[in-house]
Amino acid sequence: MVDYISGLNDPQREAVMHGSGPLMIIAGAGSGKTRVLTYRIAHLIDNGVDPFRILSLTFTNKAAGEMRHRIEKVVGTEARNIWMGTFHSVFAKILRIEAKAIGYTSNFSIYDSDDSKSLLRSIIKEMALDDKVYRVNSVFSRISGAKNRLIGPDDYLNNSVIQADDESARMPHIGKIYKQYALRCFAANAMDFDDLLFNTNVLFRDHLDILNKYQHKFQYVMVDEFQDTNVSQYLITRKLAAVHQNICIVGDDAQSIYAFRGANIENILNFQRDYGKENVKIVKLEENYRSTNTIVQAANSIIARNKNQLEKHVFTSNEEGPLIDVIKASSDNEEGRLVASAIFETKMNESLVNNDFAILYRTNAQSRAFEEALRKVSLKYRIIGGLSFYQRKEIKDLIAYLRFVVNQQDEEAFKRIINLPKRGIGDTTIAKLSVIAAEQEDSIWEIVANITKYVAGRASFAIENFATLIKSFKLLLDQKDAFEVASHIAKTSGLLKELYDDKTVEGLARYENVQELLNAIKEFVDNPDNEDKSLATFLQSVSLLTTADEKEDDGDNDRITLMTIHSAKGLEFKNVHIVGLEEDLFPSQMMLESRNDLEEERRLFYVAITRAEKRLTISYAETRYHYGRLKMCEPSRFLMEIDQKYMKVSKQRSAPSRLDFDRPERPNRDRSESTSTGSMAFVRSLAQKTAQRQTPQQAASHTPSPDFAPTSTAELASGQRVEHAKFGFGTVKKVEVNGTERKATIQFEQVGEKVLLLSFAKLRVV
Ligand code: ATP
Ligand code: MG
Repeated sequence: MVDYISGLNDPQREAVMHGSGPLMIIAGAGSGKTRVLTYRIAHLIDNGVDPFRILSLTFTNKAAGEMRHRIEKVVGTEARNIWMGTFHSVFAKILRIEAKAIGYTSNFSIYDSDDSKSLLRSIIKEMALDDKVYRVNSVFSRISGAKNRLIGPDDYLNNSVIQADDESARMPHIGKIYKQYALRCFAANAMDFDDLLFNTNVLFRDHLDILNKYQHKFQYVMVDEFQDTNVSQYLITRKLAAVHQNICIVGDDAQSIYAFRGANIENILNFQRDYGKENVKIVKLEENYRSTNTIVQAANSIIARNKNQLEKHVFTSNEEGPLIDVIKASSDNEEGRLVASAIFETKMNESLVNNDFAILYRTNAQSRAFEEALRKVSLKYRIIGGLSFYQRKEIKDLIAYLRFVVNQQDEEAFKRIINLPKRGIGDTTIAKLSVIAAEQEDSIWEIVANITKYVAGRASFAIENFATLIKSFKLLLDQKDAFEVASHIAKTSGLLKELYDDKTVEGLARYENVQELLNAIKEFVDNPDNEDKSLATFLQSVSLLTTADEKEDDGDNDRITLMTIHSAKGLEFKNVHIVGLEEDLFPSQMMLESRNDLEEERRLFYVAITRAEKRLTISYAETRYHYGRLKMCEPSRFLMEIDQKYMKVSKQRSAPSRLDFDRPERPNRDRSESTSTGSMAFVRSLAQKTAQRQTPQQAASHTPSPDFAPTSTAELASGQRVEHAKFGFGTVKKVEVNGTERKATIQFEQVGEKVLLLSFAKLRVV
């Protein structure tokens, strides 16, 4: 057996061996939280706790899989019986078992966000509301927000504060849309993602016998990444742990990055109140085992700027490690090239593999430049969370067939497949079917299955054939496993043939993708961990994949990982590139409405930095295409916030886009000072190169721009004439001081008015 105890430090061991009662592990990044949770579960099983009675909630299903694998090494195959997964997957499983109690059947469908939006679009149209006012994304996010705060449609309609808010947003009918949406999901025997948590709460609220059953069943409850739980998730864990009170939560307030989706940092603080201060055992883990000292200290220097945080002192005994490399690129494409060549060089010099590298960005849209550049130097990569395998059209089509065969109330699946492959059933016929269904107060499937009673003619014939086909598929469900049913459906429906007949390159790829889906179903059926090999269970596992759980494309798994910082939570890589460190991009412009939003962006940056083990590189571009327009970019304020003694700008390569700069003294953290020594030093160093004039036209062509030396922006006053490296000549209109930042509003002759951060603006007084 693996000796897991000796590989733990004192507080880690204390947490692993803690017996019963609530336990709260508050710890810094990379301090072994997930490791402790893993070995704590192993330890419990090792000491006779039944794995069926342990519930462990993780951030991704993949993380759960890895944990299970590690536990298996200690306790053997018993580890397969632990209830482990994301909140959504674990509670979908419980909802399937208990579906009847809340009026569903156990074969309910799970609507993904495309299904939800498609349904909302139909409702907005049926209610004759203006879809330019009632934008489907805003409506969806308001409904989702309400569900995550456990506000159902009736409560929503009766809540005067919410109603007033919707009115001021000029969308007074959201409550009605919400109500209709909930009715339609229910009628379709479908739940959306938020419903999985919402309905679990309803189930436990209205059926105390069921709650009681699970409260007794789960003797131990563990939650990783507790800082990112929302109200709905928090209440579920609190209820489940109420009997045994053996709840262990693990979290880092500094890494809370889902407040924008309703996660509540307060949950950590409420923990002590819920279980009684004297009953809660608190363990702090402060030693980071993941990263070099440079990386740990740089991360500390960033997070120290946040006001809202619990007191922690993260340190490491690891080596000092190389300084953080800063790469400046003239454009987004050049950033792609410089990052790709930096990776290539490090990989060669240090004999590393692709898996040792990750490129982390703020938004998915940034991946393109890196993909192109990596392809040019023949480095293999995988993108996590872009257009995932399961979002591809051909995959969604087959899945929709499978869903409909399992659940004929599934309206969205029905819409997708009724005329696929084309069988001459047009939108008017489908609309007619909906109207008849509404009149008869029956589901569309009831109408379709008995179509000759309602419609005559050619369309009727086509619909009848469709119904016969679905009925024949249904017969297989109880006799065959998921793979046999799915292969039969792919062939007999005509989907495979249609793709096979398309001999274009894209057609071939789509055909292969469908084959790949069938392979995945075969793997599911062959996996000894899966007891239930039904199609319904396979569909559930697919609909609950998180973006970070995606399937790898082929057998070659040595790839550079490209992903957003949000999906990188909990992961680690030897070499990390954080890219796109520009104002408005990171911190994101959309997130800058309040101080709290800025703090959340800063925590996101902290998460990004702390993913790196050995080497961290940060880059930014001076220009970037944004909605088809070339945009000038300012370096992110976060660059200035890192203690500069941990950073260096490396020697430039081909183009003069990287600069040398000295290592300035520690920045002054006092926010009341108008200029921090750190940022000025950074400016000085960035500005070491000789000034050279450049017209806006030159700047707009993708040539890297030499830097301007600010004479001293401290003297800048309104009325002064200045020259900017890119924008040309202009006149200062005003200078504002805001904390450590100084901004100038300047009227440029060629490009109009601009507000510039003085610590970075390349200005010259003329
Ligand atoms: P995050 O905040 O990013 O989720 P975490 O606190 O969950 O991080 P882990 O992922 O559990 O940290 O651990 C970080 C790394 O440190 C892992 O590679 C882990 O194996 C290693 N590690 C943790 N504790 C020890 C230890 N006592 N001895 C050696 N290595 C350790
Ligand atoms: Mg972790």
